[in-house]
This record gives sequence, structure tokens and C-alpha cells, in this order.
Amino acid sequence: MIRDYETPTVPTEWQTYARSWADRLGLGDRQIVLSCSPDRYGIAVVLRLLGPDGQEYVFTRRSSEADDAAERRQAFLTALREGSYQTVEIDVAGYYVSEGTVPCSICTAGPSHAEWQHVILRELLRVADPPPEPADALTPEEADDAELAALDRQVAHLLSQPAQA
Ligand SMILES: [Zn+2]
Repeated sequence: MIRDYETPTVPTEWQTYARSWADRLGLGDRQIVLSCSPDRYGIAVVLRLLGPDGQEYVFTRRSSEADDAAERRQAFLTALREGSYQTVEIDVAGYYVSEGTVPCSICTAGPSHAEWQHVILRELLRVADPPPEPADALTPEEADDAELAALDRQVAHLLSQPAQA
């Protein structure tokens, strides 16, 4: 791919942040890659697990309307459970590289941090410490919302801890 100098890339600071949290969360033996999709609009970050032979497992919401959403979601969960991936890739949309620098509006308390830090840590938690499956009675949308809320609480908790050396 040819990129000119105006093409957004993920700042080094984001990479360093993701690596250090991955280590703290027990993902020290996995590669952490932050890539950038300059032309994607909509979803700010896409989470993928990459297998040793280049297989891609894309995190897929329960409520996704993609034709193969159920298969994709199952493949992701299987790769996660079996640990059959070497690399965790967080693919950041180009527009979000600048939009993510605002103060976090997801957390209502605790020390201030940039929103991108919250978003990156949330994706790492999906891999390192995924919330339990919500109860069956929920619709797919409700289950997605419940999972997101659980992850956001965990992120807020982690970010309110004193920094470790
Ligand atoms: Zn936050």
C-alpha cells in the first residue's frame, strides 16, 4: 500500500500504551499490533486475533447484521479460548487518531485520561479478561450492551489504580 505523508498512522504513544497494558494483563507472550485504516468511517477500532499461519479472527458483536456474523463470532471466541493466536491487532480508523484525543467521556469519575486510552484498554480486556456471557434472556443488543458496560467498568477500575512502575 502506498501512503503519502498525510495518511494518518497510529501514534507511537498509543503503541507503547497498548504494549505496557498487554504485559500487565497477562498478554506478555503475544504480539500487540496497532494498525490504522485511513479510509474507514464508523467503527473506531476493530479487534482481530491473528493465527500463526495468517488466519484472522475478527471480534464480531452478537447484534452484527453481517451474513457470516455468527460464524465469525464463534471463530473469534474459539481462537481466544484455545489461545491459537500469536498477535492481537487493534485496527484504528484514521479519523479516530485525532478524535480519540479528547478527555474520556465514558468514565464519570477517577483520574482523567484520553478517550483513546480507554478504548484501547477495553479491546485488550476483551482478549485478556473477557466478561462472562450474559444471561440467555437478553436480546443480542442487550447482551452486547451489558458486555460493553462490564468492560467499561473494568477499564475505569484499572485506570483508577495508582500507576505501577
Ligand atoms: Zn475512560
